[in-house]
Amino acid sequence: MPEGHLLHKVAREQSADLAGQSVRVTSPQGKFDAGAVNGLVLERVRAYGKNLLYAFAGGPTVHVHLGMRGLFLRYPDPAEPPRKGTRMRLAGTVAYDLIAPTICALLEPPQVEQLLARLGPDPLDEEADEQEAVRRLQQARGPVAAAMVDQAVWAGIGNAWRAELLYLERIDPCTPAAQVDAGALWRRTRELMAVGRNAGQVVSDPSHPDERWVYKRDVCRGCGAPVRTEQVGGRTSYACPVEQV
Ligand SMILES: [Zn+2]
Repeated sequence: MPEGHLLHKVAREQSADLAGQSVRVTSPQGKFDAGAVNGLVLERVRAYGKNLLYAFAGGPTVHVHLGMRGLFLRYPDPAEPPRKGTRMRLAGTVAYDLIAPTICALLEPPQVEQLLARLGPDPLDEEADEQEAVRRLQQARGPVAAAMVDQAVWAGIGNAWRAELLYLERIDPCTPAAQVDAGALWRRTRELMAVGRNAGQVVSDPSHPDERWVYKRDVCRGCGAPVRTEQVGGRTSYACPVEQV
């Protein structure tokens, strides 16, 4: 599943390509009410956690969540026909096809507020409040690895980021969330997810951006110990049994 860094990258790219333009919005597949925003000026594309919000001048907001299988295709020539099964096409000076999202829906302003109110601070939101992020993690029940991927605690983190960030902070994934140094973990998360957004991938060692420490590895890259896996918060967690204690 795309984690928050990729949604922020998509939002930047689509804003650069389409913001300020009157955008032709269609649903070749017919499952989205594109007429409500078709032809309006797209003001901005915003990412928040794993969500995308398309703000149109004088119209509703389009909310997109890619889920497990959703993706965008970009076409430099907007006259290129859409791919079969496209839920939403956005066409200005370039075009994007949205394929197989979990959510592609129209929201009125109160619904946008409700969506944002359900989510915790996003580490990639420039205005994110560190004190609030610390408070939410410390108040979360259960293991820190479950809290980190709970979008109501911090928004945007998925399985790969949590594994690598917990390794870097030398935190056992099963440690109760209330016991970790939430401020240090939050600052590390912000710093590395910004690198990951710019790179378009999870980056846990900026000098070796393609390497991982423990995520989906058999042995820890740091010390060579066999990586320990277990189910935490409904997902497989990866940790070094020697260094994360
Ligand atoms: Zn290790």
